Amino acid sequence: MVGSVPVGGDAPVSVQSMTTTVTADVNATLQQIAELTASGCQIVRVAVPSQDDADALPIIARKSQIPVIADIHFQPKYVFAAIEAGCAAVRVNPGNIKKFDDKVGEIAKAASDHGVPIRIGVNAGSLDPRLLQKYGKATPEALVESALWECSLFEEHGFRDIKISVKHNDPVVMINAYRLLAEQCDYPLHLGVTEAGPAFQGTIKSAVAFGALLAEGIGDTIRVSLSAPPVEEVKVGTQILESLGLRERGLEIVSCPSCGRAQVDVYTLAERVQAGLEGLKVPLRVAVMGCVVNGPGEAREADLGVASGNGKGQIFVKGEVIKTVPESQIVETLIEEALRMAEEMGVDPEGDGPEVTVG
Ligand code: SF4
Repeated sequence: MVGSVPVGGDAPVSVQSMTTTVTADVNATLQQIAELTASGCQIVRVAVPSQDDADALPIIARKSQIPVIADIHFQPKYVFAAIEAGCAAVRVNPGNIKKFDDKVGEIAKAASDHGVPIRIGVNAGSLDPRLLQKYGKATPEALVESALWECSLFEEHGFRDIKISVKHNDPVVMINAYRLLAEQCDYPLHLGVTEAGPAFQGTIKSAVAFGALLAEGIGDTIRVSLSAPPVEEVKVGTQILESLGLRERGLEIVSCPSCGRAQVDVYTLAERVQAGLEGLKVPLRVAVMGCVVNGPGEAREADLGVASGNGKGQIFVKGEVIKTVPESQIVETLIEEALRMAEEMGVDPEGDGPEVTVG
C-alpha cells in the first residue's frame, strides 16, 4: 500500500506523477496536486531538497487528495522529517544520499513504526560510484546490483516494505534492467524511463518500455517522465494502461488514417469530435471513418460512429444506422448522441455526475 492506494501483487497498476512546483510553496504545490488528481493521477511525488520543503510536508501530506511520496536526495534527515510528516512513502536514491548506508537501521525503524514504505529509486544518472567503477557505466546489471544492495541493507533490519525503481533514459537498457530485477526479487516495481525527453519522444519511449514490461506482468506503478506539464504525464500514463487493457477504457476515438478514398477531411472531423467530447468520462468508443469502404464496419463495431461519404454521414449507434445527416452536421450529431449515451450511463454531461471510468 502507498497510503490508500494498493500497490503490488494483484493490485491494478497505478499512475504516478511528480510536482514541478517548489514544494515549500504550499499553495502552488497543493494546487498542482489537485490538478493532477483531477486528471487521474493516483500517487504524487514531491521533491524535498531543502529544510523549507521538509517543513511544508505535514500540511501537503494532510491536504493532498492522493498519497504523497517525499523524494529525498542527499540528506537522510529529510527522510525522517517526511516519515514524521505523514507522507505515504519516501523515495530515496542510494547513489545520492550521503552516508545513507549508516542510517538504514534508523530509517527502517522509523518507517516501520509509521507503516511507511520506502522506494529505493536507482537512477542511471546518479548511480553509486562504486558500481559505476565496477561496470564502467550504468548497465542493467549495475542498476540492479545497486538496488538489491540497498534492499539487503534494509532486509538486515527486518524491513521489507520496499518498492524499487531502476530508471534509465534508454528504453532498451531500462527494459533489461527491470526484467533482471523481476527475476531476482519479489518487490513491487515502479517503472520509469528517466529523462525521457519532450512530450512526443518521451511518450513514445515510455509507451514502448512500459508496454514491453507490463505485457510480461512486470511493473506495479508507472511514471511517464516528460519535459512537459505533469498533467500530460498522467494523461499519457493513463492512456498506456488503457491501451494495454490494464485499466477500463474511457472515451476512445477510433479514427481512420484517411487515404485516397476519403470523402471527408477525417483529421479535422476527428479533432472536432475529440475536442467536443473532451472531459467526458465514459467508456465510449466513437468511430470517425472517412469513407464507405471500411467505414460502416468500424462504425458498426463502435458504440457510436460515423461513416462519411458523398457529403453525408451515416450515424451508427450500437451497430445500427440511426440517421444520415449532411456532412456539416456530423460533429454536432455525434456529440449530441455521445452526451445522450453518457446520460443513459448515469453520467451528468455537465460533469457533476458519477464518473463511469474505473481505475
Ligand atoms: S476508412 Fe476509407 S478513407 Fe479511411 S483509411 Fe479506410 S479506406 Fe481510407
